[in-house]
Amino acid sequence: MPAYIQQFTICFGVLLVAAYLVPAGVLHWIVAVRPTPEIETARIQRRRPRREDVRREVRQSLAALVFFALYSVALLAAYRAGRALVYWNPSDYPLWWAPLSVVVAMVLHDTWFYWTHRAMHLRWVFPWLHAGHHRSITPTAWAMLSFQPLETVPQFAFFALLIFFVPMHPVALLSYLMLDGLVNAAGHCGHELTPRFIRERVGFINAVAHHDLHHRRFQSNFGQYFNVWDRLMGTFLDDKPAAPETPSIVRDERPRELVSRPAAREPSV
Ligand SMILES: [Zn+2]
Ligand SMILES: [Zn+2]
Repeated sequence: MPAYIQQFTICFGVLLVAAYLVPAGVLHWIVAVRPTPEIETARIQRRRPRREDVRREVRQSLAALVFFALYSVALLAAYRAGRALVYWNPSDYPLWWAPLSVVVAMVLHDTWFYWTHRAMHLRWVFPWLHAGHHRSITPTAWAMLSFQPLETVPQFAFFALLIFFVPMHPVALLSYLMLDGLVNAAGHCGHELTPRFIRERVGFINAVAHHDLHHRRFQSNFGQYFNVWDRLMGTFLDDKPAAPETPSIVRDERPRELVSRPAAREPSV
């Protein structure tokens, strides 16, 4: 078997398990397999995801993983050529840099995510890159990688930029990737799992409800971890319990091509 096919197979397998099945599976288990009464009451939308929606989310995620595996093979080649800033010797940088590099990665990723995400919502870009992700009005954890082929480019590009420009120890990098996967899966799981003290005291951190609201409202809450960019740019929308997603209160901001699709119709609550 040619070496590049072998590398692709390994990359696909590792990504499938570590970047999709584990984070999405953990969140699926928490909210759908063994939900406690507390978890049930934490459900954000009254509408439940349909089986065909979940099937589409898994299908699109598997297709996206094929692209991610291809990009990973190229990234590995760049790493082998000595272009990455990943360092194995902990004494190459001060010890405090390892945990700080995780925070730096989160801040950079959030900034990248906000602006590329907002750009993907431009009317002429949306159908080509991002409409597939937004077919999930009531997303599940399985939608975490549900991207159209072209959307995989900006989604993956951040990780390439990260290892080329930010020196990270493999432990810090892996911790960050695991955290990113769990936050992404949680953000789509449809249940408010964010600890109460964060929701009430740490206003700049996004709760699950914020990205869930993005799947219903489209033009607000573009950030991933934080809502600082959303607040600065006037796109922040909070999900107040007193203002449920009733059609009379929530304006329909979905692009026309999705409004006409039955699969992406606003939930009838
Ligand atoms: Zn989403
Ligand atoms: Zn979006």
